[in-house]
Amino acid sequence: MKLDRRHTLKALAGLALCPLCGPAAFAADAHHWGYEGEAGPSHWGDMDAASKVCTLGSQQSPIDIDRTIRAELAPLDIKWGRDAAATIVNNGHTIQVNAAPGSTLSLGGDTYKLLQFHFHRPSEHTVDGKSFPMEVHFVHQNAAGGLAVVGVLMKTGAANAAFAKVIATMPQKEGPPVPADAAIDPGAFIPKGRSYYRYTGSLTTPPCSETVEWLLMAEPVEVAESDVSGFAKLYAMNARPVQKANRRFILRSG
Ligand SMILES: [Zn+2]
Repeated sequence: MKLDRRHTLKALAGLALCPLCGPAAFAADAHHWGYEGEAGPSHWGDMDAASKVCTLGSQQSPIDIDRTIRAELAPLDIKWGRDAAATIVNNGHTIQVNAAPGSTLSLGGDTYKLLQFHFHRPSEHTVDGKSFPMEVHFVHQNAAGGLAVVGVLMKTGAANAAFAKVIATMPQKEGPPVPADAAIDPGAFIPKGRSYYRYTGSLTTPPCSETVEWLLMAEPVEVAESDVSGFAKLYAMNARPVQKANRRFILRSG
């Protein structure tokens, strides 16, 4: 997942994104990191003090989903408005759709607000070592600043109207957010099967903060291969490699 420092904070002024709110976060140039070479994931921990956890952390994301434990997890309680897509931005790292207020996820009696969703190619999480063509991350935050991210793996197959609209309307060049098309219904990315994996992890981009409850849908959603190709023209590779699970357990619902 990612929270772009400049555009997200501009777009979400008034919402507390506390781990990223300090002056240092604003001072850091979001372009000092990337996915290849000197700016690539193996160097993220060396950029600044705030990003050291990228290298030193023990609960980093993404991970390979392997050896899961069946658990009595509550069904995902997602309440996203069909018209939640407010703006769409090409932030230099991904295509991101910023959400209007009012869409929520309930988790453990706590309410998390949907802030934004964005895309990775290929998938960041893998399942039994297998990656998928893409992955979408729905980033939510509760009042205490904790994050809950719903991840959905994307495979090629039938076209998905909402994703097709993202590809048709995404800004081709990096720049400020522009109004999003009303047809970008976030709920269209949720697969029919609602089984999911849960584990504790981190942002998958600097500063890699270990503040994320990960909820990864077990069933992928289908999107058109041509739309994946459209995304790849802008971002051929924007996925962090899988990290060590260390002492974490991965729970599976249902
Ligand atoms: Zn992400």
